Amino acid sequence: MRITADFVGGNIVATQTDENRFLLSCDLRGGPEWFYWAFCVEGAQAGQTCTFSFDGDRIGYFGPAVSHDLQNWAWAEGEHTPRGFSYTFSAGEDRVYFAHHFLYHPARFDALCRELALPVSRLTASEKGRDVPCLQMGDDQETILLTARHHACESTGNYVLEGFLREWAQHPISGLSLVCVPFVDYDGVVDGDQGKGRPPFDHNRDYDPATPSRYAAVRAIRQLAEARDVRYAIDFHSPWHCGGENDTVFIPQKHYDILPDLRRFSLLLEQACGPDCFPHFSQDDIPPDTRWNRVGAPCFGTYMHTTAGAALAFTLETAYFVSHGLPFSAQNAIATGRAVCRALAAFDKAHTDPTINPL
Ligand SMILES: [Zn+2]
Repeated sequence: MRITADFVGGNIVATQTDENRFLLSCDLRGGPEWFYWAFCVEGAQAGQTCTFSFDGDRIGYFGPAVSHDLQNWAWAEGEHTPRGFSYTFSAGEDRVYFAHHFLYHPARFDALCRELALPVSRLTASEKGRDVPCLQMGDDQETILLTARHHACESTGNYVLEGFLREWAQHPISGLSLVCVPFVDYDGVVDGDQGKGRPPFDHNRDYDPATPSRYAAVRAIRQLAEARDVRYAIDFHSPWHCGGENDTVFIPQKHYDILPDLRRFSLLLEQACGPDCFPHFSQDDIPPDTRWNRVGAPCFGTYMHTTAGAALAFTLETAYFVSHGLPFSAQNAIATGRAVCRALAAFDKAHTDPTINPL
């Protein structure tokens, strides 16, 4: 058997210590210490049990995420600690993918676009010459702008984004075009970088209006925002590994001038989340200038509100493992994304008709 990171999203440094034991580290690639990893085991024998040990706390509450096709993921459960896990391979498990959390493969987004007949185009070429995908729907000048993966490893937000697009395909908000860039740091997503705090520059800090963007994708997003009237802008992220607020779905509030609107939207989202959702509670939002949540630092949301004039712009952080006791799944995160779209539609009704009380 062998361990490989040679696939989209792959990231591991592995040392085999005996036939069935492996010491593992995240492949930081010059970035700060982080927790992202993803590897593939090829050629394990049926009934073979292997033990994988990390050099830090790298495993979530339900063991590793496991997949056989990189698109459908489940929690392996089984024997695990914060630093390692064991896995017994079954017959036919010739290639098994393990990861810190549920990856979101660009091929899954392509399949979604085919299923919903959504028109994917090329935003720009990435620094490594890849086509960065972009979705543009509608002819209205006023636009909702949706982005994910400013930080390459943060894939739980892509499931929420998928839910938003599924809801939008059935119930679009009239008068609004939709533009979606699902993988802003596309090279990082494909190469399996963690991407947060990327040296020499983080993609989500590349939004200082006084400075031209360093990254082609961010440059193109800023040009789109200049060419259109952005009414709403949502950037989907995942937080830190786990614990505290990282076990919730929350908004770090960054704008005092629209704080009542941010709170109103968050309450609408809380109400829109049914029992099938990966739940969001507005009490989990982080007020401005609280702990690490500093107002004014350049980021997508601040650029879209302060420079591009969006009425509502924010980051939505979606936990990797659990929210209020419910384990993350593709289905419940997609349901939350549908709720985000419904909550925004309710917010928009009141925004465009002040006689309507949205709550
Ligand atoms: Zn992030």
